[in-house]
Amino acid sequence: MNSKKITLVSFRNFEKTFLKEISKTVQQEFGGDVFIKESYIDLSECYDAGRRQYNGNKILKEINSMIIPGHKSIGLFNVDLFIPILTFIFGQAQLGGLTAIASIYRLKNECYGMAKDEELQMNRFKKVIIHELGHTYGLTHCHLPSCVMRSGTYVEDLDQKKQHFCILCLQKLKDG
Ligand SMILES: [Zn+2]
Ligand SMILES: [Zn+2]
Repeated sequence: MNSKKITLVSFRNFEKTFLKEISKTVQQEFGGDVFIKESYIDLSECYDAGRRQYNGNKILKEINSMIIPGHKSIGLFNVDLFIPILTFIFGQAQLGGLTAIASIYRLKNECYGMAKDEELQMNRFKKVIIHELGHTYGLTHCHLPSCVMRSGTYVEDLDQKKQHFCILCLQKLKDG
């Protein structure tokens, strides 16, 4: 198995313990080494005042300019993301590329008028992060309902799948 290097890039949105827990899970799912990096980004250029949301394509480009050679980098955010063709997105990635982004903003129960559930939002965030990083390793969407590479639009879709790769996706990940 090729050695994988993944960097979680946080922009001062998350606690250290929170990031450590995510890195542990990412390490379990991908193997290899997982690093945590604190960084700074000016998101004002990515803000769409009309939609009151942040353009995921633009943020992805910004992250792309910060890449660490040989590492897959995923930027972790707490802002409302969109891309022009969709109302909102949880995350985005370059297929087979080096960069991805994920936001916890729409993963919170409070966003849907439900009681706060930190464990649930953490589990959702982990699934989004693993899914988007999966894309950077060239994985496309999987039809198996439990596989983390299953596509989904709503938090309910996230809650239905697991944080793991199915056996076929795992094989592709190892071969890639
Ligand atoms: Zn996807
Ligand atoms: Zn799969």
